[in-house]
Amino acid sequence: MKQIILATKNKNKLVEVKSVLGNDYEVLSMEDIGIDVDVEENGTTFEENATIKAEAICKICGKPVMADDSGLEIDYLDKKPGVLSARFLGHDTSYDIKNAKILEMLEDVPEEKRTARFVCSIAVAFPDRDTVVVRDTIEGIIGYESAGENGFGYDPIFYVPELKKTTAQLSMEEKNKISHRGKALVKMANKLKDMNLWDC
Ligand code: IMP
Repeated sequence: MKQIILATKNKNKLVEVKSVLGNDYEVLSMEDIGIDVDVEENGTTFEENATIKAEAICKICGKPVMADDSGLEIDYLDKKPGVLSARFLGHDTSYDIKNAKILEMLEDVPEEKRTARFVCSIAVAFPDRDTVVVRDTIEGIIGYESAGENGFGYDPIFYVPELKKTTAQLSMEEKNKISHRGKALVKMANKLKDMNLWDC
């Protein structure tokens, strides 16, 4: 079976990737193949960071490697926190605090100026071919208060007007169908299928 290594230590991502690619690929974690390295994400775009990670791990293991990078862009804040989403106010600061800060920064900002999106770029690097990269988004607005207990990170303040819910008020299955990561993953799966380039 075609093998692909997922460059993440996040178990939830492994489950999500297996649920989309699991019928066609043997998806292995870095732990499964005995690699434990942290790659510095010093790119300025999601695409760059996903590519840096995938190519660095591919160089080490010599197999096809998938990596992703994602984050929240808030238009009113010039697309911040963007690639620094995990590091906003410090890596170890709780999301209750990060979300409260964003609500404060957008206090009194009218709804039409609260537009935002989650972005996800996924890269697959190969030992002997150019890296393949895709990107997808989910559009929404920053709510006026936190709502919902599901998901993680900025989900409680990310409101999807069509659903009248934040992404923290969706079940995992509902969110995966419409999320930046879910859609980018399906896009990548289709692209890999079309390219039919698996003989390594
Ligand atoms: P990474 O791609 O796992 O490095 O995620 C970067 C950061 O973006 C996360 O730590 C969250 O702060 C934010 N983020 C990415 N995707 C989501 C999401 O689906 N919900 C909430 N926050 C997210």
